[in-house]
Amino acid sequence: MAYVVPAVPAVALPVDGGDEFPVNRIFCVGRNYADHVREMGNDPSRNPPVFFMKPASAAIPEGRDFPYPGRSEDVHYELELVVAIAKGGSNISVESAVNHVYGYAVGLDMTRRDLQAQMAKGGQPWEISKSFDQSAPCSKIVPAAKIGHPGKGAIWLEQNGKRVQDSHIAALIWKVPEIISTLSTYFMLAPGDLIFTGTPAGVGPVRRGDVLHGKLEGVAELTVRVA
Ligand code: MN
Repeated sequence: MAYVVPAVPAVALPVDGGDEFPVNRIFCVGRNYADHVREMGNDPSRNPPVFFMKPASAAIPEGRDFPYPGRSEDVHYELELVVAIAKGGSNISVESAVNHVYGYAVGLDMTRRDLQAQMAKGGQPWEISKSFDQSAPCSKIVPAAKIGHPGKGAIWLEQNGKRVQDSHIAALIWKVPEIISTLSTYFMLAPGDLIFTGTPAGVGPVRRGDVLHGKLEGVAELTVRVA
């Protein structure tokens, strides 16, 4: 049997040290730093994690520009710790969750904020605001075998050299093992899945020509130009 239309090639992200990580799905967590929950006008108490998805094709490796998308006048950056899954499973326990992790990265959950507000207001799905093409620039994946499982460390973003987000991953409301465990009750996780774990406060709009430089201390850095 032959495919009747061309099969889209798998998206892969470079791994620090060589080889590539094939991206299966991209899960994202919303409202996971209290200061960002507050800036968006929501209640920062520990509600169950909010999950949404982007297609694998949204991932773009470091070195590629982020093309400013159409249908929005208010595209925002959100810098996030990214978890790369090595071993799948359902109903994974919090205690064993890190055994499912291949490594970590830092990535941008690019968001059409105007459309997100419009969709939220109408109680409609978020996809057009969150899941658009090339909406997930991501650094190299750094193997946990090399850096362990980071539970603290500064996470910050500079926009054209000015610090706009400045936090630390110890402030995550839902920690990585809890995210993996809860997510695996809704989806059977699989090798190649990425999880964007939420952004701290300081989100804001980008303009064409901006240079975004993000860092997660002890893990990775990412530089992206808005084209
Ligand atoms: Mn986000």
